Amino acid sequence: MKRNIPLQKSISSEWLTLFEKSNQQKSPSYQETISYFKKFVDHTPYAKMFTIGISPQGREIKCLVVTGNEEFTPEKAKKSGKSIVLIQNGIHSGEIEGKDACMLLLRNMLVTKEKFHLLKNLVLLIIPVFNVDGHERSSQFNRPNQNGPLMMGWRTTSQNLNLNRDYMKADSPEMKAWLKLFSDWLPDFMIDNHTTNGADYQYHITYGLEQQVNISNFLSGWIKEKYLPHLIKKVEKDGFLTAPYIEFKDEKLTDGITSYPMMPRFYNGYCAIQNRICLLVETHSLKPFNNRVFSTLSIMHHTIDFVNRNFRELIALNKKADNQTVNYYYNKGKVLPVDFEDTDEYENFSFKGFESYEEESEITGNKVLRYTDKPIVFNVPLFNKTRIKYAVSVPKTYLIPREFSHLVEIMKLHGIKCDVLPSSMKMTVNRYKFVNDQFAQRPYEGKQQVTFYVIQFTEKIKIPKGTFVVRTNQRTLRVIANLLEPMTPDSFVRWGFFNSFFERKEYAEPYVMEPIAKKMLRDDSILRKEFYAKLDSDENFRNNPLERLDFFYRNSPNFDKIEKVYPVMRVDEKILL
Ligand SMILES: [Zn+2]
Repeated sequence: MKRNIPLQKSISSEWLTLFEKSNQQKSPSYQETISYFKKFVDHTPYAKMFTIGISPQGREIKCLVVTGNEEFTPEKAKKSGKSIVLIQNGIHSGEIEGKDACMLLLRNMLVTKEKFHLLKNLVLLIIPVFNVDGHERSSQFNRPNQNGPLMMGWRTTSQNLNLNRDYMKADSPEMKAWLKLFSDWLPDFMIDNHTTNGADYQYHITYGLEQQVNISNFLSGWIKEKYLPHLIKKVEKDGFLTAPYIEFKDEKLTDGITSYPMMPRFYNGYCAIQNRICLLVETHSLKPFNNRVFSTLSIMHHTIDFVNRNFRELIALNKKADNQTVNYYYNKGKVLPVDFEDTDEYENFSFKGFESYEEESEITGNKVLRYTDKPIVFNVPLFNKTRIKYAVSVPKTYLIPREFSHLVEIMKLHGIKCDVLPSSMKMTVNRYKFVNDQFAQRPYEGKQQVTFYVIQFTEKIKIPKGTFVVRTNQRTLRVIANLLEPMTPDSFVRWGFFNSFFERKEYAEPYVMEPIAKKMLRDDSILRKEFYAKLDSDENFRNNPLERLDFFYRNSPNFDKIEKVYPVMRVDEKILL
């Protein structure tokens, strides 16, 4: 296999990147990075840079628009009929080669003009560094599994949040800014550059692309039949071994690798429910930095080239996916799959690994794995068949009480249209009550997550003026359902936004409740029957004095009717405003 360090045509020194000037060992600081990208703005008519938001430590998160014909606004870009491609670097900012590769990519397009033709049918958006605060928490010790650059950034933000878990809940200012950018431009294709660690293997670069039922079949079909075979062929021709993104089923490689739908908290899973394709790029952290820069350049270049040549088809497919979403799940009322589980089904995968052996460790007192540099191909099971664990019927409308306007603000950032009820209205609504709730022992991404089941009930109530009305006949229907249906893995409820509704807020002293309970037992024959039946059948209940008393409290008019009731309501009819 030929090695893959492209020879540069003579480049004037002002356009050399720090990566090149440092013998391919260094990646520039954030300020140096932005200065380099700014040169494309200052010295060519093809680029503009704008600020999408401010990081918690006060840094500007920049985005570059690159276009051959002045399509510098979302309106102009959309009107042009070109494909909009968004490239993002440094969401985990220690994994940074995408940034250095983007500098070379843009130079090839705008300065040497070798690749200028790639702009014919597309508008490029480039985020040089997404997690800018993490990028500046720079050290040579940040990623012990990684082979360069000399200094590298940190995985999480200054608020210690992992942005690649934040796509749905949007806790961080960085993600709020990103969602606004996404909704304003609504790109046709996304590239997300990372570096992965884990096992050692021969592959230089791996890719993640959603291809299961969590994405429209129009898009998965295009990926499988057209884009991916083309991409693999081209990137391998450049000298880089490729494989699907590698995740172990269990601890060891020989247990198998998996390819399952990504939850929407992740970028690629999020794009899937927005009916768009995201290419997750994962170079391999043990490969030298320069190899990773050039493999990322290769995969970006061939992707952009493919999108440029197939721009009309991609735009049409995205539109079809948007229409299909409304048609299937709104017009036809089909159930929407929102959670998935693994199966034991697999196919064989020829894995290009390295020979390894085990060695006694005096540190752990156990065996430790050692890799050799001897290439070996072995069969591993690839588990890539999932089944649907949970699907929901999507109502025509959701109603969100006005006290949750902060959640409506997040929904708007997701590109969801929300209206306001102009006057109170009597309606029949479907509601959920939480049961068997269990809270996580430890926080996750700063949130205390909760699992539960729901029971549904219907009631006719007066909905007050000012209630938010979210109709689901929108292209963002999958996002709406994933946020508002409580049982989905990334719903507002799961992420702890409704934790206070799991708490009891009022109670009755036992000495006050006891005489009330006695009266209820005497006067209500149905309740009496129920109580004695429970005493007979449920030993824990029988032996728990407080629960026995609570039985009556729950059945008394004093009990809080909204305890464990989800405030968001479903309405199965169109509401005319
Ligand atoms: Zn990463």
